[in-house]
Amino acid sequence: MLRVFQNDLSDPDHFLVTLELVPGRESSGRAIDTVMDIAKDAFSDGRISAVSMTDNPGGNPSLSPDVLGSRIFQLGMDVIVHFTCRDMNRVGLESRALQLAMMGMKNILALTGDYSGRGFGGQGAPVFDIGSVHLQILLGMLSERMAEAGDPDEFFAGCAVSPFKQAEGECFAQYAKLCRKAAAGAKFVITQLGYDARKFEELIRIMDRRGLKLPALASIYVLTPGAARMMHNGGVPGAVVTRPLLDRIEAEWRNKADGREAAVERAARLAAVVKGLGYKGIHIGGIHRRFDKVGRILDRFEAISDQWTDFLPQFDYPQPGGFYAFEDGAEEPDAASGFGQRHVHLGFLESAHYRLHKTAHDVFFNPQHPLAPLVKKAAAALDTPKREHALLTILEDPPKKLLLGCRRCGDCGIQHVGFLCPESDCPKHTRNGACGGSDGGRCEVFPDRPCIWQRAYNRLSHDGKADALIHDCVPPRMWELDQTSAWLNFHRKRDHQSASTDIANRCAAGRCQIGKFP
Ligand code: SF4
Repeated sequence: MLRVFQNDLSDPDHFLVTLELVPGRESSGRAIDTVMDIAKDAFSDGRISAVSMTDNPGGNPSLSPDVLGSRIFQLGMDVIVHFTCRDMNRVGLESRALQLAMMGMKNILALTGDYSGRGFGGQGAPVFDIGSVHLQILLGMLSERMAEAGDPDEFFAGCAVSPFKQAEGECFAQYAKLCRKAAAGAKFVITQLGYDARKFEELIRIMDRRGLKLPALASIYVLTPGAARMMHNGGVPGAVVTRPLLDRIEAEWRNKADGREAAVERAARLAAVVKGLGYKGIHIGGIHRRFDKVGRILDRFEAISDQWTDFLPQFDYPQPGGFYAFEDGAEEPDAASGFGQRHVHLGFLESAHYRLHKTAHDVFFNPQHPLAPLVKKAAAALDTPKREHALLTILEDPPKKLLLGCRRCGDCGIQHVGFLCPESDCPKHTRNGACGGSDGGRCEVFPDRPCIWQRAYNRLSHDGKADALIHDCVPPRMWELDQTSAWLNFHRKRDHQSASTDIANRCAAGRCQIGKFP
């Protein structure tokens, strides 16, 4: 296996550069030749630590990053494989990880993944059996198994984060999940795409203050008007291009040659800014034809990186009404905003829904409650197939279907998400925090709905308990309990909260330890 990326990442004096490549939809021909040519030129250039290969970007089918990555790997160029949870269940993911290990490709970018796009005959089934936090744990456990079998090279898995969120709850959910990913074993973090230096700085400051010692790579995309327009219109989940930036890019590209020069200059200047802010490197995207543009960005970056403070004001593209955890220019956190510590007002229905479930949970699912021995006895008495069926159809299903859209997963996770259902309310079934695709607090997949993590944040903040979102690592749903009574499974200690599986233990051990943000 190659260790260029790992070694460069651990070298304190090295500012590293990775390059994102997108395998096309064909298995041969010009698109593949182009990607291979870019990779060859990147290798010859010598300044690229690794190329990263996207995994069915946008949820649409493309050539496997594993097979194209392996060709590039054979050139001697180190590779980071994007690894999403969208298209395979945990069995398939483990199998794919083993395959990558056998091929020697162990640098992984572990992602929840964009939602499913269109494939043969229509939209693909979204799997999302586990999430990115679970994937980190899975890769860690596989590494141990591989070591026992005589392979000392473990997976080197990193994660993504988006500091470019607009609403406070979204920002909180991103940083809280980053902490869970770090606790689960992430070795590096790559940001989503944005052009707001204050947000880039916010991430570094929050990680510093909370002891999250992950080397961070900043995404830098070489923007054309087409790409900028698509991102501005929400076509790339999580990427943020504001209206003023789009206007500027469109003006620059009135003359194409000027536009190209401006795109290279913007990328070089942003690289200088993020280096000055303390990023460990940059992750360049938007290169689809030739490597020489990357070479020009890097030449220019090397020439101007000392002047980074001059360029800071050029990356001032806030989202309208966007939240910041720190006052502009202030050393100390903004005491007035009190990131994550503010009381959030809930509407009547939202408050009633939350209170009802919280109260029911405190009475019937709390081992410390005076009624707990009685409830436990009742559960034992009801624990036969016939009685369970009666319990489900008469008592459990009707209110849960009505109030939560319950799908009878048998392994209830509402208590981890502010008493919202991760199966019915989140299309990616996230149990450990938000995916990166929310936009303005709304769901990536159903923009007419708020993201459940935004709602969970509001509910918990209402009680002054938003920090609860930081700590837990919630084990994956136990599919063996599907279509059974979640109430009985809890009281009979069969669900994820009592399971003593390896992953549950690891999840508990890998609890995020930081106290509060920022
Ligand atoms: S509800 Fe939130 S976490 Fe779930 S898919 Fe939508 S944006 Fe992502």
